[in-house]
Amino acid sequence: MLYSSTRGQEKKLTSANAIKKGLADDGGLLVPESIPLIDMGTIERMADMDYRQRAEIILKQYLDDYTEEELRECINRAYQYPNFDCEEIAPVRKVDEGIHVLELWHGPTSAFKDMALQILPHFMVKAIHKTGDESQIVILVATSGDTGKAALEGFKDVAGTRIIVFYPANGVSEIQKMQMTTQEGNNVEVFAVNGNFDDTQNGVKNIFNNKEIANEMLKNNMKFSSANSMNWGRLVPQIVYYFSAYCDMLAEKAVKPGEEVNFVVPTGNFGNILAGYYAKSMGLPIKNFICASNTNNVLTDFIHTGVYNKNRLFKATNSPSMDILISSNLERLLFLMSDKDTQKIRAWMEKLVQDGVYQVDDVVLEKIKEDFYAGWASEEQTLGMIKSVYDKHKYLMDTHTAVAYHVYESYVKDTGDDSTKTVIVSTANPYKFNDSVCSAVFEKEDIKDMSEFEKIKSLADKTGVRVPEGLSGLDQKPVRFRQVCDKEEMEQVLKKILQII
Ligand SMILES: *Cc1c(COP(=O)(O)O)cnc(C)c1O
Repeated sequence: MLYSSTRGQEKKLTSANAIKKGLADDGGLLVPESIPLIDMGTIERMADMDYRQRAEIILKQYLDDYTEEELRECINRAYQYPNFDCEEIAPVRKVDEGIHVLELWHGPTSAFKDMALQILPHFMVKAIHKTGDESQIVILVATSGDTGKAALEGFKDVAGTRIIVFYPANGVSEIQKMQMTTQEGNNVEVFAVNGNFDDTQNGVKNIFNNKEIANEMLKNNMKFSSANSMNWGRLVPQIVYYFSAYCDMLAEKAVKPGEEVNFVVPTGNFGNILAGYYAKSMGLPIKNFICASNTNNVLTDFIHTGVYNKNRLFKATNSPSMDILISSNLERLLFLMSDKDTQKIRAWMEKLVQDGVYQVDDVVLEKIKEDFYAGWASEEQTLGMIKSVYDKHKYLMDTHTAVAYHVYESYVKDTGDDSTKTVIVSTANPYKFNDSVCSAVFEKEDIKDMSEFEKIKSLADKTGVRVPEGLSGLDQKPVRFRQVCDKEEMEQVLKKILQII
């Protein structure tokens, strides 16, 4: 399987080279040249397998220049108990009649980014060796919170790699910030940026596109790669859990073989939901993708109208990992939906940079609407959803999952489709956003003046939900990274860290 750029001006690459490279030189995203098919018989057989075996079947379709043994090694290093805190790795829980929740937050950082970032470093180290490359890989990450910590955990002390993370100073939760500033490892750096996530992401993109920096790095035997969800190595492991969720439902007889299900996905950069679309294109019986946004509802408007318009006020919400105005992975969907029209993609992406807005043609929009429904939730609706699902079903959700749950209810009202079995994709452990979760389930008076960690304790006492290990001891860990920079200073900061001034 070879990989090419969504913008059509990059030579074809093997998967190892695509993963090593991250982003194409023409600014586009790397995509597989074809989509492999998995038949229903295979899916039924996968129902009897564990997560690792299912992963092997899916991953080898796309990463066919890795040997089966290499893939197995990557899979076994990533998806193990107690690295993940449950044997199923990505369990599916039934919450209500016809409604299941796919929990993607059992990894070391308690958010779904671990599903990909626990395995990506192993793909990358193997890719370096396989391609006879001796340069040091420098991972540069812009994060709205969860990616940064998950990437730091994934890459810490991995030989031949360094990782530098930038996060928006006021765009992450207190817990997310502490998770990053206390990060261990000898090859890690963490910086706060005065700005929002898009400023931070643009700063990182500018560094990637800076020829002077690239040349200096080459001289010093270093090379950039990206652990952002633009990297194919981030996307491909995410395809696995869509299959795995369906297999679990088959095994429990919650669905019949071939029966279509809906997936509801709390969406930011469009990576998670896009992996689901690949799964559907491979043959997984999926009816609708329900694309759930918070008040930064650029994607809702886009899926309704075909106009992508990022010219609007950026809002910091209680689901900060979805506070995004430019959803990078949408470019891959547009590539698929426009029959790989790289010229069109280039024109749209240029318009996005120049005017902050582009409009796709009706044919593309209609195709998108065949598979995607879109909606959004306000902050009050998000908190209300946490409370009502907890009160009714004793199931505790984080804010991102609650956005999805709310939009699912709108979908049912809107379409009348209450009979299709539905999987709500849960992307974070509730304790990771405990401040908001507490404000949803407690009376104001009960948690007045409490610290983050007192709140965690109260929430555990009230709900009996176990506090994940990575979060419970956080207040005891020493802070290692306190540096803050302006967005204009990011290039300078990087040069200094890498000593390439
Ligand atoms: C990253 C993240 C999302 C958004 O996922 P995308 O792949 O960027 O669409 C949603 N919820 C949580 C908790 C996340 O960390």
